[in-house]
Amino acid sequence: VREGGAAEAAGGGGADTVTVRVPAKVNIQLGVGGARPDGYHDLANVFLAVSLYDRVTARPADTLTITCEGPGAAQVPLDGTNLAARAAKLLAERHGIAPDVHLHIAKEIPVAGGMAGGSADGAAALLACDTLWGLGSSRAELLELCARLGSDVPFSLVGGAALGVGRGERLTPLEVGGEFHWVFAVADGGLSTPAVYGEFDRLNEGVRVPAPKASEPLLAALRTGDAPALGAALSNDLQPAALSLRPSLATTLTTGRAAGALAALVSGSGPTTAFLASDAVSAVAIARALLASGTCVATHTATSPAAGATVL
Ligand code: ATP
Repeated sequence: VREGGAAEAAGGGGADTVTVRVPAKVNIQLGVGGARPDGYHDLANVFLAVSLYDRVTARPADTLTITCEGPGAAQVPLDGTNLAARAAKLLAERHGIAPDVHLHIAKEIPVAGGMAGGSADGAAALLACDTLWGLGSSRAELLELCARLGSDVPFSLVGGAALGVGRGERLTPLEVGGEFHWVFAVADGGLSTPAVYGEFDRLNEGVRVPAPKASEPLLAALRTGDAPALGAALSNDLQPAALSLRPSLATTLTTGRAAGALAALVSGSGPTTAFLASDAVSAVAIARALLASGTCVATHTATSPAAGATVL
């Protein structure tokens, strides 16, 4: 366990604690438009929450402190830039109280992996602090604060499946007609999301990138729970940029396909890769093959949809 700041939380004396479990996401479609004058890109993002979770525990403390454990914890900032810390501050400011809380993050979501781990912790911290401080914020109020923290944060709160447009933060919930099985291969080291968008812009220089639009066949496959149809419709416009920055990911994708995956793609901005399996048995076989190939450092099997941030 890494401890953030000199002042470790002193409020251990039987005080209440609140733990929130929050899922990772995979973008089953990541449609990216050309760079706008403000530098952002218009997105047509189909988010699916998967059963790979971080847990954020809030307990009273003398000052705001963050600790983190789990794979990749060494890469997680423990200062005010941590999205969980920013969430606690934002909520406290809104209510005119001090953000005196110790937040402990138990990490399973790959760090800087394109699965919105930081965003997940932001949403979880918001819900945990709201509960600990007895603020009783409405869902709409929490969603508004989530959107201010980052464009992927609102989805971490709601989970399930959703279409995000604009910068990805305006969400419409989507119906999911069945369970899907996934394997995620964790790459060695992370990829910076801004760097991947920069590479996208470089690769598309001089190209008129059409406005992104949600794929109808993809939404239909989601609605009916049809895994082969979903596999055929998966798409990620950031994949060429992620592969350009990390060419070795192509081998990981090929390995998973050869091991029986219905489809393989880079998750979000990468470098985590996602493999859709036909069932749980196939998922285990794909995970084994990926690990044995040495093209990734860890694998996770997971199912979707998963519920959003939940108080345990
Ligand atoms: P996204 O898919 O939303 O683009 P990501 O999954 O690629 O994000 P994150 O795990 O969210 O990446 O981490 C991106 C960066 O955010 C990290 O390198 C880290 O410096 C910073 N960060 C801030 N707070 C957190 C947090 N709670 N957990 C992980 N990273 C965090």
